[in-house]
Amino acid sequence: MSELIDPRTKYEKIAPPKQTQPEPGLDSKLEPLADLGEESYVGHGRLKGRKALITGGDSGLGAAVAIAYAREGADVAISYLPAEESDAQRIIGFIEKEGVKALALPGDLREKEQCEKIVEETVKAFGGIDIVINNASKQVWHESIEDLSDEDFDATMKANVYASYRVTRAAVPHLKPGSSIIFTSSIQAYDPSETLVDYAVTKAAMNTMSKGLAQQLGPRGIRVNAVAPGPFWTPLQPSYGQPQEKLQTFGQDTPLGRAGQPAEIAGAYVYLASEEASYVSGETLGLTGGRPTP
Ligand code: NAD
Ligand code: MG
Repeated sequence: MSELIDPRTKYEKIAPPKQTQPEPGLDSKLEPLADLGEESYVGHGRLKGRKALITGGDSGLGAAVAIAYAREGADVAISYLPAEESDAQRIIGFIEKEGVKALALPGDLREKEQCEKIVEETVKAFGGIDIVINNASKQVWHESIEDLSDEDFDATMKANVYASYRVTRAAVPHLKPGSSIIFTSSIQAYDPSETLVDYAVTKAAMNTMSKGLAQQLGPRGIRVNAVAPGPFWTPLQPSYGQPQEKLQTFGQDTPLGRAGQPAEIAGAYVYLASEEASYVSGETLGLTGGRPTP
């Protein structure tokens, strides 16, 4: 019998000291460090033989999913920005430790060629692809729409909406029946913060893209779903993802009273890609610490 664990105190409340990192942030510089499941995630062979591509798999939620997928038996490719090489190499180490194949794919997904290249390289290295996780995203806060330049708006659209659309378009010809596509949306898709208008728009777009593609690709035997996280402690937040004052009590306004840790989200991505979810498509799974989603 396993011990009953209180979800409010399973992890400490995050009350981080003042910190700012240049964008994109590094997991290795987070204070306190986040839990990616390095010590805790136990695999059960649920993705044995699968071949997964995870964008933004170097840090935060994507890194926790990469570790979990490797422990479930999948080969895992991670894409990330060149500035994140040190975080990425650490995660590559965890993947390789499981005796599965790992692939590191640095480059900027705002570029069309890079979106296509990461799919082709994954197929070449693993002999195919059957799980695509559109998880990379840019989140930079702005006080007012008057401060949000065309360039900033465009960069967020390109990194979030265009990249997931282009990566998916490149992957679909390779996906056999039984394959799975998962988008990382956000509670921001439904409940946007006053400082994250452009980002929230992209998360709503990614959520709707997943639901539309589920309609289109279901008849081809491909399931498409989304995960909508609430506040998770990742390098996205202190690298201009939130105003400093919001970081101090990050996640404490949820019913569970604390921010989530990346390790707590991996199971959702494992489930959605696994055989257990064979009748689940067009769904958005919220992991919000209790904040309601529609
Ligand atoms: P993170 O910073 O660890 O991960 C985001 C990753 O996106 C980066 O590691 C980076 O590799 C990648 N990325 C950004 N711009 C890119 C570009 N131009 N080219 C290539 N890669 C790029 O932060 P995270 O919080 O783990 O974010 C993962 C996902 O979770 C994102 O889609 C984010 O919107 C979503 N999300 C996070 C939270 C949260 O509270 N942390 C809440 C809701 C949704
Ligand atoms: Mg990163």
